[in-house]
Amino acid sequence: MSAENKDVDKETLRKKLPITYDKKTQLPLWRDVRTLTLNYTISVGKIFPFFEKLAEGKILAIKCKHCGELYFPPQVDCPKCRKSEVDWIELSGEGELETYTLIKIKPQSFSHYDDYVIAIGRLKEGVRVLAWLRVDDISKIHIGMKIKLVVSERLPESYLVYEFVPAEE
Ligand SMILES: [Zn+2]
Repeated sequence: MSAENKDVDKETLRKKLPITYDKKTQLPLWRDVRTLTLNYTISVGKIFPFFEKLAEGKILAIKCKHCGELYFPPQVDCPKCRKSEVDWIELSGEGELETYTLIKIKPQSFSHYDDYVIAIGRLKEGVRVLAWLRVDDISKIHIGMKIKLVVSERLPESYLVYEFVPAEE
């Protein structure tokens, strides 16, 4: 980390001790300036079929057996009915762009990606999906355009992800 870190004042840098003082209590606090790399695990047991099918190029949503509501990303407990009886439904991926934004200033864990577009699309099944929209040229994006949700490999991690692409005319 460079000595220009804005979280550390000049006095701290001169003393070579990243000690700051709590505004209320005036107690000394160690303020670390290192960047944390975060690796984490999340339980996905109940929605594991989603990942299995993703590897086959299929994108699944769940449909509550009681109220018929469709959920994406999948969640196996219906927030409306508070029941867990669901059907897995393969989505067509076909939809329309409702809104989007170009991300130039990224969260730290996304800082290694080129600028990217986050979009909300409504699929023909009625469900809204938040995902990246992959385009060569952002000037070609317009609200209402036909888009398709597809499985692709995101580099450099080589993760399978779902993202929108413009639908072929
Ligand atoms: Zn329900």
